[in-house]
Amino acid sequence: MSRQTNPAEVPLAAFVRRSGALYCEDVPLQELAQRFGTPLYVYSRRAILDAYGQYQRALSGRASLICYAVKANSNLGVLNLLARAGSGFDIVSGGELARVLAAGGAAECTVFSGVGKTEQEIERALRAQIMCFNVESDFELQTISTVAARLRRRAPVSLRVNPQIDPGTHPYIATGLKSSKFGVAYEQAIELYRRAAADPHLEVIGIDCHIGSQIAQAAPFEQAADRLLDLVERLEHQRIGLHHLDFGGGLAIAYRSDGEAPPTIAEWVGAIVRRVDARGHGGKTLLVEPGRSVVGPAGALLMQVIGWKQGAAGAFAVVDAAMNDQMRPALYDAWMDVQPVVARSEPPRGFAIADVVGPICESGDWLARGRMLSVEAGDVLAMLGAGAYGMSMASNYNSRLRAAEVIVDGSQAYCVRRRERVEDLMVGESIVPD
Ligand SMILES: *Cc1c(COP(=O)(O)O)cnc(C)c1O
Repeated sequence: MSRQTNPAEVPLAAFVRRSGALYCEDVPLQELAQRFGTPLYVYSRRAILDAYGQYQRALSGRASLICYAVKANSNLGVLNLLARAGSGFDIVSGGELARVLAAGGAAECTVFSGVGKTEQEIERALRAQIMCFNVESDFELQTISTVAARLRRRAPVSLRVNPQIDPGTHPYIATGLKSSKFGVAYEQAIELYRRAAADPHLEVIGIDCHIGSQIAQAAPFEQAADRLLDLVERLEHQRIGLHHLDFGGGLAIAYRSDGEAPPTIAEWVGAIVRRVDARGHGGKTLLVEPGRSVVGPAGALLMQVIGWKQGAAGAFAVVDAAMNDQMRPALYDAWMDVQPVVARSEPPRGFAIADVVGPICESGDWLARGRMLSVEAGDVLAMLGAGAYGMSMASNYNSRLRAAEVIVDGSQAYCVRRRERVEDLMVGESIVPD
């Protein structure tokens, strides 16, 4: 596959089927499964950088920073690709800060979000000289001020304001509702900004929001932008000027080809930029914090069929990946596209409707339900659109070893995380003395 020019700004397809076989870029997935084993996460370098490039182009010509949301996929290889492309980062823990720095990311292009930053995390971030703390409460503002005073520094802060918008997404990933634990209540924001502006250990530099994830319409983002800009204007009346506006992430990706058609990256950024310009704030630096839309479509989870079983009420394809490798179905009841890596031209047993399930001792351990499948033990399946919130949410539940991860670049494949070994499983554990 040659480098495509992408005038319509449609996402570049990381996974394509040629003569019945699924490829990532120029590498057959079957070959990757054989070489690296399963379960295996596979990411396309080209697709990640293409999505990042779409954000860049949508923001070109204005002061801006794309802060990739690390929690979507925090593999060092992925972070390093983005760091080399010039990306900033949005982190939510000290562990993520360490990853960004280890991957060659710039602290001065890193913003720190999250409702419960500890003093230790704040101190580490201050010493690393991150760009900004996205502050989520009055107590956090106080803690940051105290730590900054102790270190004789001034901490750059933005308030994460809860715009109280219903984005129409799964309740677990809606974060800007009035009832949400995230952000500072809209009505309290002005008072907190006043307090921050008067604090010699704090430097007020911006405002931010993040209303949720997998949001498939532009309207909630536009509403949130307007709510934020209302506040910015009220603050300016009180002579509290802001340097940057951070609209968070949350753009949906199309998990199914026949389902919702979310805005493209260009449309999403365009909608926000239009609000900002229309209200005369185009001179401010714009930040976005995309996660899913950068890495989601670029990744697949490969799994092998262990066996096929006919239950009393339906059939099951039991695979070697499970909810510990991929939480989205169990956690959000998410529909994920699961396809055979090599399509069978003559199915041995014909097709049957089956659930794709893992070996874990939980009824919630399913990956796909009610799919028309024709598979045999040993066949490899690919779960598409699995690049975001897949491996980064993986656990060792049932003492399962976590999957390996591979980045494909053209005809090359690089292991960017080796498969866990049994020795890794018990690291740090010990027994009590007699
Ligand atoms: C998770 C998160 C993001 C990224 O959200 P996506 O839906 O993956 O784009 C951005 N900002 C904050 C504060 C987040 O918590």
